[in-house]
Amino acid sequence: MPTGKGLNEEYPPKLTAAESGQILSTIKDWSIANGLAVRPQVSLVKAEADPHGILATTAPVTLFPSPFPRVCFEQAKSIQKAYNKLYAAIAQDQDFLGNIVQEILEVDEFIAQLWQVHLQVKEEVYVQNLSLGLFRSDYMVHQNTSDDAPTIKQVEFNTIASSFGGLSSQTSRLHKHLSLLDYSLLENSLEAKNLDLPENKSTKSLAAGLQAAFDTYKSTSQPIHECCIVFLVQDPERNIFDQRHLEYALQQDNSSTPVFRLPFGEILSRTSVADTSKRQLLYHLPSNPSKVFEVAVVYFRAGYGPSDYPDESAWKARLQIERSNAIKCPTVLTQLAGAKKVQQVLATPTSSETPSILNSFIKDSPKEIEELEKTFTNIYPLDDSPSGLSARKLATDPSDCKGYVLKPQREGGGNNTYRTAIPTFLKSLPETHWKSYILMEIITPPPVHNIILRNGVLEQGGVICELGVYGTCLWDQGTGEVLYNEEAGYLLRTKGDKSEEGGVAAGFGSMDSCRLV
Ligand code: ADP
Ligand code: MG
Ligand code: MG
Repeated sequence: MPTGKGLNEEYPPKLTAAESGQILSTIKDWSIANGLAVRPQVSLVKAEADPHGILATTAPVTLFPSPFPRVCFEQAKSIQKAYNKLYAAIAQDQDFLGNIVQEILEVDEFIAQLWQVHLQVKEEVYVQNLSLGLFRSDYMVHQNTSDDAPTIKQVEFNTIASSFGGLSSQTSRLHKHLSLLDYSLLENSLEAKNLDLPENKSTKSLAAGLQAAFDTYKSTSQPIHECCIVFLVQDPERNIFDQRHLEYALQQDNSSTPVFRLPFGEILSRTSVADTSKRQLLYHLPSNPSKVFEVAVVYFRAGYGPSDYPDESAWKARLQIERSNAIKCPTVLTQLAGAKKVQQVLATPTSSETPSILNSFIKDSPKEIEELEKTFTNIYPLDDSPSGLSARKLATDPSDCKGYVLKPQREGGGNNTYRTAIPTFLKSLPETHWKSYILMEIITPPPVHNIILRNGVLEQGGVICELGVYGTCLWDQGTGEVLYNEEAGYLLRTKGDKSEEGGVAAGFGSMDSCRLV
């Protein structure tokens, strides 16, 4: 990590017990006062202590913003619009997605079911061509040797339920707030006023993406009822305030947009599809069933994994949304574009004679293709292609597998197998199932230190930071026209360097913000 200006001091500074107590008390109160919060873990709060489910607690957060190389931050932000365009183009390429799905569908029931929903709607004909993406591209810093300039390498690209945009801008504000007083009062004082803390507009920008889709629906779909946005959610949801921030941002001015939260399991009882050629999606207000809204946008914060589809009726519900006229964020095709297998196909090195596969998605911009490819790290299939067969050797060798992570086609954290656990895991599966996994090189960022506050307790030590950059994109699946394309703020998540997974919701990671160095 380059030291840079102002980083000669020890960072984070050594704190006395009284000093960490002071920072803790600021964080505890600021977090609740500003909604940097989550619902408590059921295992930590006895039911009788919270019989009405009213408690909230601070989200896990770092005491200091972690140092992050400015060049990497700029690189990640500057490339986001190209990534948005790339994934919009992939979502439009049914042949490309179909070929990928075909390879894994016989061993991955979830992917097969999603594809089936697409095929059913295709047969009936899609009524809505507009498609909305609220994406997040995740990276870690990579540096070959300490003399080399740091660059970013992509961990994954999320096309569904990309979370933490609502809490992330609050975390940037928290660290800014601490820098105004608390940090400068420390005995090992930081040059707190000189910390370079970039502004983070993730909440506003993501809400603006939803608003753009809402406005476009109203102006192009001749709605027959008052329009609304539906947030499809899990129930219960600990990370509810993250979602609420986006909702509140949509309701801030006079042109307030109606937003309703709908648990995935209640789609069939609370929505219907109008029996018209337009197939408007209608939302029936539970508190007043005679009041009907027309759903302009469905924003998925659920439905990304098999656990949201416990039975056939959940798939019926997904089909109901997909065949309707509402703009989906995302459509089934966009969700599939985010499969890890797609990322692997994009990243699998091609020979010098074959042009990059990105050329089929991004026309006339070799510079963009070059910039995108710089963020790829090695990812291999585990199929019976030549590169798949050599990856199988790597993955089953107890020593060679040490630099790799094995991923299935799943989202939401907690699904991967790491390093030396890979051979045993693979051997527990029939070999015919291996092709639904990808093998990825582990990115090892330069060491960073920080202090994480989680459940009221401080954890100090080496940490690993993962930067996410949000992107919003509205496009026409029919014409390919991109109507809206923006970079939409960032997320920094930090985990202890002994933990493999870094999801904040999964309980391993914490919210953080960037101190550019
Ligand atoms: P998910 O869609 O479940 O979030 P990810 O691909 O993001 O799956 O993997 C989950 C976590 O595992 C990441 O947040 C990161 O901490 C870790 N991880 C994944 N891939 C890599 C990698 N190539 N190098 C280092 N860590 C990784
Ligand atoms: Mg993901
Ligand atoms: Mg992830």
